[in-house]
This record gives sequence, C-alpha cells and structure tokens, in this order.
Amino acid sequence: MTIKEKYEKYTLGNFGKRDFVISRASGCHVFDENGRKYLDFGGGIAVMSLGHSNKNWIKTVKSQLDELVHCSNLYLTKPHADLAEALVGLIGKGRIFLCNSGTEANEALIKLALLHGAKVSGLEGKKCKILTAKNGFHGRTLGSLAATAQEKIQKGFSPILPNFEYGDFNDADSFRKLAGEDLAAILVEPVQGESGVTPATKEFLSELRKICDEKNALLLFDEVQCGCGRSGKFLACQKYGVKPDALSMAKGIGGGFPIGAIWVSEKHSELFTPGSHGTTFGGNPLACAASLAVLKEMSKRNLAKNAEKEGRRLAKGLEKIARKYPDKIKLTRGLGLMRSVLFNASVKNSDACSALRKNGLILIPAGANSLRFLPPLNVSDSQVDSALKIFDKTIGEL
Ligand SMILES: *Cc1c(COP(=O)(O)O)cnc(C)c1O
Repeated sequence: MTIKEKYEKYTLGNFGKRDFVISRASGCHVFDENGRKYLDFGGGIAVMSLGHSNKNWIKTVKSQLDELVHCSNLYLTKPHADLAEALVGLIGKGRIFLCNSGTEANEALIKLALLHGAKVSGLEGKKCKILTAKNGFHGRTLGSLAATAQEKIQKGFSPILPNFEYGDFNDADSFRKLAGEDLAAILVEPVQGESGVTPATKEFLSELRKICDEKNALLLFDEVQCGCGRSGKFLACQKYGVKPDALSMAKGIGGGFPIGAIWVSEKHSELFTPGSHGTTFGGNPLACAASLAVLKEMSKRNLAKNAEKEGRRLAKGLEKIARKYPDKIKLTRGLGLMRSVLFNASVKNSDACSALRKNGLILIPAGANSLRFLPPLNVSDSQVDSALKIFDKTIGEL
C-alpha cells in the first residue's frame, strides 16, 4: 500500500483528501518522496519559527532527551521553570501556564474568564459572557470552537456553549453594543490568521481595552499564530501597544514541538487556585527545552527584527505582483511575516495553491479565497525573492 492508501484506509476523514507526501526538510525547504525540493512558505502553519532542522534547536532537544523527557506536574523541573521565567521576561510581569496546543491554551483563557466573572460578581454563572470576533479562529475543542465565530467550524457540534456572542472584527461599536454588565471577557486575535490574515486596527484594540475596563472584564488576546516574533515584536499586541489581561500562545513557540502557553497578568494570576486546572503533558521538560531553544535563537539572532525586515520585503514584492495582475489579485495584507493575498473570483485559492506547489512553492490556503505566507522568522532576502519570483510566474500562468 502507498502512504496515501494507508491514510485513506486507516485515518479518519476529518482532514479531507491529501496527496502530497513530505519526507524530510531543512531550513526553508521541504522535500517530497522523490527528493524534489520546495520552498516552504507555510512553515507548518506558522510553527517552524527557526525553519526546519535548525542545528541549535536539535542539539538542545537531543540533550534534553538524554536528560529527562517527562516526570508529571507532581514534580518540578528546570526547563519548566526556565521557560516560565523567559516568557515572563518577554511578555511582562505575570504568570505562565503551559499546555500542549493553541486550543488548549484558549480553553485555559476561557476558564480564566469564567473564574474572573464569578469572582467579581460574587456568583458563578452570573457574569460569564465572552465576546469574540466574527471570522476569528481559536481552535477545535468545544470551548475554543464556541469562541470561533465561523459556521463551518461549529456546524454539527451543537449544543455550542451558550455564553459566547460575536462582534465584527475592527468594529469596536459592535462589541460595545453586546457588552453588558454580564461581560466576563473579550477574546480576539490581534491579527486574524485562518480567515485570511487581517490585522486589527490600533483603534479597535484600544477600544476593546476601554470596554473591558469599563465593564470590569478581561481583555484576552489569542497570539497563537501572530505571536512569537512573527509581527516584528515578540507579541503582535506589543506592536499595537495594547496590553491584555492574559494571552495565549502556541504554534511558533515550540519551533515544531507541540506546546501551548498562557500568560496571565500579575493582577489576575490568582484566579487559578490549586486543583482548578491541570494537564498531564503540559510543561514537560522536552517541550520546554524545545521552546527555550526557540526563544534563545530568536534573541541571539534578533529574529523578530528579521521578521519585520523580510516582512516588508515580502509585502513590497506582493504589492507589485498585485498591481501587475489586478484581474486576479484583489489585495494583499498582513503584518510582519504574516501575509496574505486575496484573489478575485476568477482565481480559486486551491487551484493557485496546487499550481504554486508544482512550481516549487508551498503556501497555505486561508479563508474563503486567499493564500497565506508564513515563512520561518530567519528567512533570507534571497529566499523571499525566490518565493516572489515563483509566485509572480505562477499567477501569470493561471
Ligand atoms: C492554530 C490556531 C489555534 C489553535 O491551535 P491548535 O494548536 O491547532 O489547537 C488557535 N488560535 C489561533 C489564532 C490559531 O491560529
């Protein structure tokens, strides 16, 4: 049986049909079964912050493998302590909870919001409304899915948690209208990723901060995709200068190893009391070592700055291509090394995606009709130029 046949016979159908096998990867490139090389500007969907098989990352992970892989949260380990310290250093005064994925990190934020609502109202279930933005994405578990205001994500999974309501992204008034005294929290992505890379406006995030302050509610940011240096700063919200009460991270902070995290400001860090939350694998020494290797490499090589610089180069190139093919490309947008191209109705993103792959460039579909560029943070000028060249040529051929 081929790999594809095994997938079709033995795995559940939740991912839809797939046919492209990746065998190995290095830096900004992946290789298929036949050894053909592709420029990977999907980065495992914003996961491979250091690119594939980064030497220092591998070295750290290998040495942690020899040392200690897992010992449960009944005990303390140095990598867990060091990672929490490093994240607080990068984010600000507060506390960390470690888990294994983005959706789990958001579940923890949702629980935090409910604890906050119960504490300030004095009654469980009284102040429990959570507002999120339409077209946002927060994950696939039941809490995160309720936070994700997209029909295609929620369809089939009723009952959806009833305490969520949805405003329009970049329209603070729509949030204000929904924000009553029962508001526990507002949760948004500073840059919406899955729906096509839409950056928030500074005004929008500042207004949400005000609404939360007025209603004694928590402002929560989902930095799972836009965080970890991709925006040009460690966090996208630092780029906007708006401070949340808590935030979630995952994807890029492991550099390929599964890990998620939430940061909670000092003021709200006592909401989680002993026994109120937990995880078996979260904070295991191997994941923490992998994440520490990412943070170390990011700071040593100033990768957030590189993301800003290469993001600008990519944006300029994409704008030029968009002007060249106005019949095919509607617009291009993004922040730092998180960019997208939105097509006109004449081009289907799935068709563009396969044509690009045939020409050696891997991108990720997003939203109704766009493609995302999420290359490693250490991508080079020449790799950006090569990607632009392939993109230009392929769009011309469509
Ligand atoms: C990917 C993503 C998630 C979910 O992360 P998983 O690790 O897939 O659970 C949540 N929020 C945002 C913004 C994401 O991009």
